[in-house]
Amino acid sequence: MYDWLIVGAGFAGSVLAERLARRRGERVILVDRRPHVGGNAYDRLDEAGVLIHQYGPHIFHTNSDAIVDYLSQFTTWRPYEHRVLAMVDGMQVPIPINLDTINCLYGLSLTSEELEAWFAARAEPVADIRTSEDVVVSAIGRELYEKFFRGYTRKQWGLDPSELDRQVTARVPTRTDRDDRYFTDTFQAMPAQGYTRMFEHMLDHPNIHVMTNADFRDVREVIPHRRVIYTGPIDEYFDFRFGRLPYRSLRFVHVTRDVAQHQPVAVVNYPQTEAYTRITEYKHLTGQEHPKTSLTYEYPSAEGDPYYPVPRPENQALFKRYERLARAEANVWFVGRLATYRYYNMDQIVGQALAAFRRIDAQLGRPAPA
Ligand code: FAD
Ligand code: UDP
Repeated sequence: MYDWLIVGAGFAGSVLAERLARRRGERVILVDRRPHVGGNAYDRLDEAGVLIHQYGPHIFHTNSDAIVDYLSQFTTWRPYEHRVLAMVDGMQVPIPINLDTINCLYGLSLTSEELEAWFAARAEPVADIRTSEDVVVSAIGRELYEKFFRGYTRKQWGLDPSELDRQVTARVPTRTDRDDRYFTDTFQAMPAQGYTRMFEHMLDHPNIHVMTNADFRDVREVIPHRRVIYTGPIDEYFDFRFGRLPYRSLRFVHVTRDVAQHQPVAVVNYPQTEAYTRITEYKHLTGQEHPKTSLTYEYPSAEGDPYYPVPRPENQALFKRYERLARAEANVWFVGRLATYRYYNMDQIVGQALAAFRRIDAQLGRPAPA
């Protein structure tokens, strides 16, 4: 008899498995329908021996010391600050848009102060900033919105930015200085031996039994357990009773090239051309030295594994209906990006899982002696 059946070996499921086993001494079986642990953060050596991320580029960044301290039990870190270029009007320019982006694109030599005025002259006032179009147009105007955001967003989401909540494009700021880092968090780094190794360390405990290639549907009746933590898509748990929640998918095309370097930075975005959104070159992230280089092209798609919850009001309303069912489900906890239907980064999921552990710990009280 297991104390916990945990569904999904991504950050949400793995952090909870680790806490419940190590802190409460409980017996955990962690199942995932994929052939590996790590969820979307899974990385592996490809055929050429280059470390790649199977499900697209994962860069760790956070402002939380507590989350860094927690994960640092399972990995050391390689400091890495992420930089991204966007291919716009035939040039590779920094995104987030900054002083160099504008000077390069328009052949200007503005100062930061002048750029502020330049943006202000182009920004279109929006009384109530609700959508992903409003956020950008109200800050920098329609022309830059069209060049950098509209096409990329339509490709990535299959929706116009005017149909998406503001939080989507608000992830990418605009700057008037020359800071070309994608993130400004206080801690930015990659697990030194990769994400998969970090997960393996996290799950290396005699009370944790990991079972891959195992779907919850197939094992829930055959694995004896007292309680469940579910980190898969919430609509699937309830057999899509109220209809499907939209999750956006991606098709990843992994390629190895016989050159040492393909592009100047880890990620180049394609907001105006191409069917893919971005190309990632992993060696920039990992620091690996290798005569070849491996890349991933991301092709957004409506079909396939669920990767992104789609932030818009009607989807949130549908999620709330499922959430009400989830609250009434005895002995089942719903945690993670798919189960709580939120566009969360890895650090936020670690924070959410640690908070869930504290709630469980408080609710269940002192664990029964082994
Ligand atoms: P997941 O990692 O999705 O894990 C859920 C697991 O549950 C999956 O492995 C799935 O197979 C399993 N599962 C689902 N249903 C079942 C079932 N019925 N039975 C068995 N197993 C099941 N975050 C960052 O902080 N930085 C980044 O740079 C970044 N880049 C990203 C790039 C892409 C392309 C994507 C898609 C996401 C990115 N993220 C990034 C977000 C990050 O992937 C998530 O925040 C994090 O992986 C969520 O962890 P999770 O455990 O909630 O979900
Ligand atoms: N975005 C864009 N152009 C870009 C980069 C981002 O329009 O060059 C928009 C797009 O809608 C994207 C969102 O901003 O989905 C968030 O970007 P981020 O890089 O955070 O996406 P993620 O890494 O989560 O896929």
